[in-house]
Amino acid sequence: EEKVRINKFLAMCGVASRRAADQMVLEGRVTVNGQLIVEPGSRVDPRKDEVIVDGKRMAEPESKQVYILFNKPRNVITTSHDERDRQQILDFIDVPERVFPVGRLDRKTTGLLLLTNDGTLAHLLMHPSSQVQKEYLASLDEKFPPAMLQKLTSGMRLKDTGEKVSPCRAKILDDGMSVLVGIHEGKNHQVRRMFSTLGFEVKRLDRVAYAGLTPGELRRGEWRFLSRKEVEKLY
Ligand code: URA
Repeated sequence: EEKVRINKFLAMCGVASRRAADQMVLEGRVTVNGQLIVEPGSRVDPRKDEVIVDGKRMAEPESKQVYILFNKPRNVITTSHDERDRQQILDFIDVPERVFPVGRLDRKTTGLLLLTNDGTLAHLLMHPSSQVQKEYLASLDEKFPPAMLQKLTSGMRLKDTGEKVSPCRAKILDDGMSVLVGIHEGKNHQVRRMFSTLGFEVKRLDRVAYAGLTPGELRRGEWRFLSRKEVEKLY
């Protein structure tokens, strides 16, 4: 049994001090699962009981905020709702907190993904005005001619929908068939569609940096908690 005294629960919810919470109970302002309670010694289960004060549902804030960097393998999907036979990110990450991914990677895309239960930060990072840099290593079906770099980076119009993307950074790697692309937007399949617009197919796509975070020792399918310093830099 995980019950706690009602005054402690209300204090954890940030409504009032324990003593003031006792007073609220005595004043008949608190119901538990629809029942008025007037006994300050009452106990509740914070995870199961519905506690209402002055008509407002009380919930404990998730006490611990966690930040996870995951190196996503190919064929793992980013969505968090149930899909029976497809491998999901949460199959890899077994923490008690209910974390969710900040943004998405295509099923076929590998690389860095941030997960957290901190809604404020997630919101900040996913907001369209956010300038979070994401770097992708795109392996192409053909050599990418240096003469086309300008077209890739100057803010192209995607040929399928006509959407315009922002200017970005790009660098052709030594083999000539891999291009490192740095963008701060996140339109659906953006990198694949940028190359497709220029007549190239992306054979493999790997996110090699997210907001300055890089894989380091993390191999595919592995994850680690961010340090406090790393979290502060994201804010
Ligand atoms: N661009 C893509 O095309 N796919 C991703 O998963 C991320 C960026």
